[in-house]
Amino acid sequence: MNQEPIFCHLFGIFVQNLKIFSLSTVSLLSSPIEYLKGVGPLRADMLKKELSLFTFNDLLHHFPHRHIDKTKVGTIASITLDMDFIQIKGVLQGIDIIGVKRSKRLVTQLKDETGTIELAWFQGITWVQKNIVEGQAYLVFGRVSFFNGKAQMVHPEIEPYLASTMSQKYLPTTMAQKSLLEPVYSSTEKLKARGLNAKQIGKLTQTLFQQISDRDVPENLPSHLLENRMGRWEAYRQIHFPTTQAHYKEAVDRLIFEELFMAQVRLNLIKIDRHKNSKGQLFEKVGNYFNTFYNKHLPFELTGAQKRVIKEIRQDVGKGYQMNRLLQGDVGSGKTMIALLAMLIAADNGFQSCLMAPTEILASQHYESLSELLKDMPIEIALLKGSTKIGERRRILKGLLEDDIHFVVGTHAIIEDVVQFKNLGLAVIDEQHRFGVAQRAKLWKKSAIPPHVLVMTATPIPRTLAMTAFGDLDYSVMDELPPGRQPIKTVHRYETSRASVMDFVKTEIIKGRQAYYVYPLIEESEKLSFEDLMQGYEQVKSFFPEPTYKISMVHGRQSSVEKETNMHRFKTGDTQILVGTTVIEVGVNVPNASVMVIESAEKFGLSQLHQLRGRVGRGKEQSYCILLSSVKAGREAKERLKIMCNTNDGFLIAEKDLELRGPGDIDGTRQSGALNFKLANIINDKIALEEARVAAFALCEKDPTLQLPENAMIRRFLISQKSKIGWGKIA
Ligand code: ADP
Ligand code: MG
Repeated sequence: MNQEPIFCHLFGIFVQNLKIFSLSTVSLLSSPIEYLKGVGPLRADMLKKELSLFTFNDLLHHFPHRHIDKTKVGTIASITLDMDFIQIKGVLQGIDIIGVKRSKRLVTQLKDETGTIELAWFQGITWVQKNIVEGQAYLVFGRVSFFNGKAQMVHPEIEPYLASTMSQKYLPTTMAQKSLLEPVYSSTEKLKARGLNAKQIGKLTQTLFQQISDRDVPENLPSHLLENRMGRWEAYRQIHFPTTQAHYKEAVDRLIFEELFMAQVRLNLIKIDRHKNSKGQLFEKVGNYFNTFYNKHLPFELTGAQKRVIKEIRQDVGKGYQMNRLLQGDVGSGKTMIALLAMLIAADNGFQSCLMAPTEILASQHYESLSELLKDMPIEIALLKGSTKIGERRRILKGLLEDDIHFVVGTHAIIEDVVQFKNLGLAVIDEQHRFGVAQRAKLWKKSAIPPHVLVMTATPIPRTLAMTAFGDLDYSVMDELPPGRQPIKTVHRYETSRASVMDFVKTEIIKGRQAYYVYPLIEESEKLSFEDLMQGYEQVKSFFPEPTYKISMVHGRQSSVEKETNMHRFKTGDTQILVGTTVIEVGVNVPNASVMVIESAEKFGLSQLHQLRGRVGRGKEQSYCILLSSVKAGREAKERLKIMCNTNDGFLIAEKDLELRGPGDIDGTRQSGALNFKLANIINDKIALEEARVAAFALCEKDPTLQLPENAMIRRFLISQKSKIGWGKIA
């Protein structure tokens, strides 16, 4: 869904309200960077192009990536090969100019109690020569390099050693405090070539702090959140020019909290606004369809988590606003039943529902299992896929338009424009990450009032990521598996022991179980991996000869009829082995299958391995997952396989995945903006995120439109940040 209208609307209200605060002056921080002393049009141009520093505010937020502690003085003897920067105090001995043309340089020796080191200048030789005196004490700071095995410093910073005034020249003159930690800013090669190196950028920052004051950086957190926190202006000063390491840390913590808190407030406001202003179908009652099914046809007792989630959904749809709920459940937690129960509530209120799946196999499977569950109920259910025959298709389209069909299950064929509903009330999207945003948006057009949307995720998303990326959605978690499930036993074996793996599989099959063999096909069209699959198939066949054993195969090059036939044979137990590619990754449910062998497991990501493994362990039997890899698999791949062997918990695996890969790679979050933090990092700042979330929630609950005077500064801040909003949304 395009969230723009909501944002605009929300901030429209804010801006109107803001008129009350007409006293607010335009901050100096919005001044163009060329207005900073020492930045002419030329430098401004460079800063804009190279570092995207357009305004004073941008420079204020160009934080140093580290600080050099100039109070620390080392000795020459302590210099090591892996040393970065060092500061040494010593006396200069012998100043010479040697070499010609490009190798012409000024060389001198710096001597302390422990040894000597060479200092060299290739540029500005005349100036350096004029300013240094042999036999005097100097404080020298720079990067150590090794030339012919000898330690050397090229173009070091150098100043006469005066114990009392050490390093104070780095201080902005207006700052009362004394910084002994010199900031190091990032620069670029181009900027350095034009005389804007890290140090000069530091000078600009000093100038900035001379020009601005605390009025330009007003506090934006309410007082109750400031009790143990540094004030805002102080935090900005300390992050650039810290007085101590401890102050620096406090400053960073404060700014990280602010960043996370403001993001959470914004998400909360969007959610509140959506609840208030988005019109949705009203499902007033739970009636006969639901109750009859629940009391007479439910094949098992719902888990606690399932009961809780269905209650959450019932509450949502009974309020008259559009539900936009994300359901996260681990593989096998029973999400399909939630979909069915929600669809029955829709039917009770006279509405149609659709259930969309990312693959035809999965759509067919959902159709079959729902048909089975509903076989004694007066519910009309249809299956619509790309391959549905024309006559059947016509019948379905007519049925949907005339309200003869209650539920339609299918692939993206459902969102085609020709598919029109009489009154679509609920759309369930299973395994969401394969459905694009644009595709989902098409759903909205199928009914004057948009249908409720329930998105069921394919893969658990780490809580921290869900909170930041999807924080404006309603969000349910099913972290409980149906009772009686035994944890899947997972082992990692090298391909060299394939024969014993096959023997093991055989014993399971003899017990009456079934097995999957999965091959990695990244691109179904890749010729090479396709050949691998065929080879694998032959190999499996040689271990499991016909007619004693029967094998199905599914892959992306088959027609959907072929796929379906093969799938169906496996499902009904006609074949004992299913050789396939990742087309079976999501959703497939064959409870009698108890062994999953994953070939070249090192080529899969964690969440994909978890999804694949989730195809077994669906029945009462002990299930096994065998990860086969090459001995040569890399270190990180082996780490993944180890994680898989150690846990079955999808949420934990998702956390590990996030740690290994970083948030940018997690499905569906790439454009989510969860990464658009300047300082905060959802992996490292989990505690701050939780704290920010709780604080933001409490605040929005009490003051959902930020009307209270004590929240005025938050509102003002959010409005000033307006341009930075643009977080993609999943539904
Ligand atoms: P997923 O969440 O991975 O989509 P499914 O909906 O496919 O999981 O359910 C997995 C299996 O668990 C199915 O065979 C389903 O019938 C069964 N199941 C679901 N809920 C329960 C329950 N409360 N008790 C027992 N079995 C259940
Ligand atoms: Mg499922």
